[in-house]
Amino acid sequence: MAEPLQHESFTKPVDESREAMEEKPIPRVILKRRRTHAHAGHPWIRSSAIGHMEGDAQDGDAVDVFTSRQEWLGRGILNTRSRISVRVYSWSPALPLNEKFFAGRLSSAIRLRELLGTMSPTGATRLVNSEGDGLSGLIVDRYANRLVIHATSLAMAARKEMLVRQLTEIIRPSAILWRVDPRTAKLEGLEAEEESVLGEPLAAPVFIEEHGIRYGVDIAHGQKTGFYLDQRENRAAAAKYLAGRRVLDAFSYTGAFSLCASRLGSAREVLALDTSRQMVETARANAALNELNNVRFEAENCFDALPALAARQEKFDAVILDPPKMASNAQQLESAWRAYFRLNESAVNVLRPDGILVTCSCTGRVHRDDFRGVLARVSQKTKRAIQIVEDRGAASDHPVLATVPEGDYLKCLICRVP
Ligand code: SAH
Repeated sequence: MAEPLQHESFTKPVDESREAMEEKPIPRVILKRRRTHAHAGHPWIRSSAIGHMEGDAQDGDAVDVFTSRQEWLGRGILNTRSRISVRVYSWSPALPLNEKFFAGRLSSAIRLRELLGTMSPTGATRLVNSEGDGLSGLIVDRYANRLVIHATSLAMAARKEMLVRQLTEIIRPSAILWRVDPRTAKLEGLEAEEESVLGEPLAAPVFIEEHGIRYGVDIAHGQKTGFYLDQRENRAAAAKYLAGRRVLDAFSYTGAFSLCASRLGSAREVLALDTSRQMVETARANAALNELNNVRFEAENCFDALPALAARQEKFDAVILDPPKMASNAQQLESAWRAYFRLNESAVNVLRPDGILVTCSCTGRVHRDDFRGVLARVSQKTKRAIQIVEDRGAASDHPVLATVPEGDYLKCLICRVP
């Protein structure tokens, strides 16, 4: 029986106070005045919130975070090289950030996936979802019997040996790939890395199954960790609306929405577009692997191809839009809005009456209400009603912590356009 999650610690509280007392005093980070409650339950302490430090802490060491009035706030890990200078892992002063602590967090994360039923030995699941699992800066994806560990913080990268060992013990995978991507490396002051830390180097694709469809996943060279696990439940949800329809899958990557539309959704035919020739090749191989021959994959830039299809009066009964992230900072937001507007406008323009629009946004800075706002403007401009039938997020193995709303980055709206 799975133990319930506990807000304070994610784990059954363990009396480690004695252990904590035996360790040397933990250095302190003292916040500036009035930088207190904003942090309650949110693990990111930005450098601008820090007043001063007491004690001798190196990057990667545990620190206690105090308010300017010397109230204990949380226990985290220091990284002076990052704008997120401390990541808080524990909100309970009794818990030292030791091996037992992290093992507890990992097993709590795995208990959730067991509860969700995503641990099928041939499937793929996100085992650890960073902040959502109380492990800021750690992503672990399981592809059948292989793991990809993606450290996105110095705090977690500095605990590489421990994390690899613990995950090996709990999951017993046949291979593990450890990754620090170049973007993280820059933000966190680390070296980018990609290393097979257990088993064979992962040169060949790994085969996984999702909704009864097989995929070859290139773990070592793919985007993210090779497969968009966050869209798993949305692919099945979308498929429900697609029986007998002619579907356009824009930004198709390795073909998952398309193949799901064809096999699970019984779509009549699917045209799938992605700008990357390599992804188009992989998608074709995935279609062949599943003997699905009513899906056509073409290498096209969707920003040009969709208006061109509309201009040629091509019509579809459903359009799926899953573009990449459009803005990483506030300056890029304006052009992100425009891009979402243009894409959704052209999607509506190629839809027959009673068409289905599955429109996604993985740009965290574009909030759910704002994304609905884009659709409102598209509706006004195209003079077509847009009925939102499902307002969805990332798959359930990507939990969002109530205190960390940024975790809700993925929007997937399933709409009918009469
Ligand atoms: N729907 C996919 C994931 C899409 S990821 C799935 O469920 O697996 C976004 C994809 O957009 C990537 O494959 C990337 O190659 C592609 N892409 C980026 N810019 C593009 C553009 N201008 N036109 C078409 N595809 C683009």
